[in-house]
Amino acid sequence: MQLPRDVVVGTGVINDITDVCDDLKLGDKALIVTGDNTRKIAGDIVHDELEDKGRSVEMYTSSSATMDEVRRVEDEAMKYGSNYLLGVGSGNSIDIAKLAATELDIPFLSVPTAASHDGIVSSRASIIHDSKTTSIQSKAPMAVVADTEIIANAPYRLLAAGCGDIVSNYTAVLDWELANRLKNESFSEYAASLSRMTAKILLDSADSIKPELESSARLVVKALVSSGVAMSIAGSSRPASGSEHMFSHALDSIAPGSALHGEQCGLGTIMMMYLHGGDWQMIRDGLKKIRAPTTAEELGVEDKYIIEALLISHTIRQERYTILGTSGLTRDAAEAVAKTTKVIS
Ligand SMILES: [Zn+2]
Repeated sequence: MQLPRDVVVGTGVINDITDVCDDLKLGDKALIVTGDNTRKIAGDIVHDELEDKGRSVEMYTSSSATMDEVRRVEDEAMKYGSNYLLGVGSGNSIDIAKLAATELDIPFLSVPTAASHDGIVSSRASIIHDSKTTSIQSKAPMAVVADTEIIANAPYRLLAAGCGDIVSNYTAVLDWELANRLKNESFSEYAASLSRMTAKILLDSADSIKPELESSARLVVKALVSSGVAMSIAGSSRPASGSEHMFSHALDSIAPGSALHGEQCGLGTIMMMYLHGGDWQMIRDGLKKIRAPTTAEELGVEDKYIIEALLISHTIRQERYTILGTSGLTRDAAEAVAKTTKVIS
């Protein structure tokens, strides 16, 4: 199992970045991967903090998580002889740093500026390759430094999306249990229980998840870390990614760029829970309290794309057996699930 060694969560912890690097004995040369906006919010702080303590720091600003950008970061790291990478941003920067560090075989630290998905702690990198987003197995971050003040000040929509990614654990675990029973797929009770418990704690606290509250940011970050640990125990993303994630990826392929990953996964969880015969209303109510989208309209996606995505979801990751089976839903069934769960009207 690969787990982060240091997980630092709290107010102003970004200013402790040098202590974390020293604790891990990472060496003197750092390369920061950050984004245009996140540089101003956090990248510059990390840079100045390390430089003030006498470290040699380079910074690379990137706008998209493409394979070309990963290569460029690798070239920069080799040019400067960087000992480790820091991904400072909401998602793209962390994904780039994660994959580049894996290929260079050097450590990387995750410094998230938002809590919108579990990629901030996981060992998988979402990278655009040949204009398709693929999830690539990588290193887990050696440390996660999550400043809740910065995360609470990020657009609330991102935090609500993070909750959608965590709620996914419910159906991901049900899918995994199904695959274990039907296909004898190996199953970890520890990973499944941790994953399910994480989603339950989050939904039980749905009333207290609100904009600009550091306590909300802390709650969601801890849940994302916990989901990441469940995936590390399982050695795969199984505990946190099932049919609801396949629905989200299907939507990406037909209606790209319209909504956030976690928003799509949350909405997918409502429908997949219905297919499992579970308490989909509980999922829907929880997401509504958090103010995450529960309808196609709130997601900003036309009804027809929801149906099309449901029809192709089973083709997305065929080795991963889920409630969608090997032949998926009929059109009638897809319309029924979307209408019954009030995703479309
Ligand atoms: Zn996800």
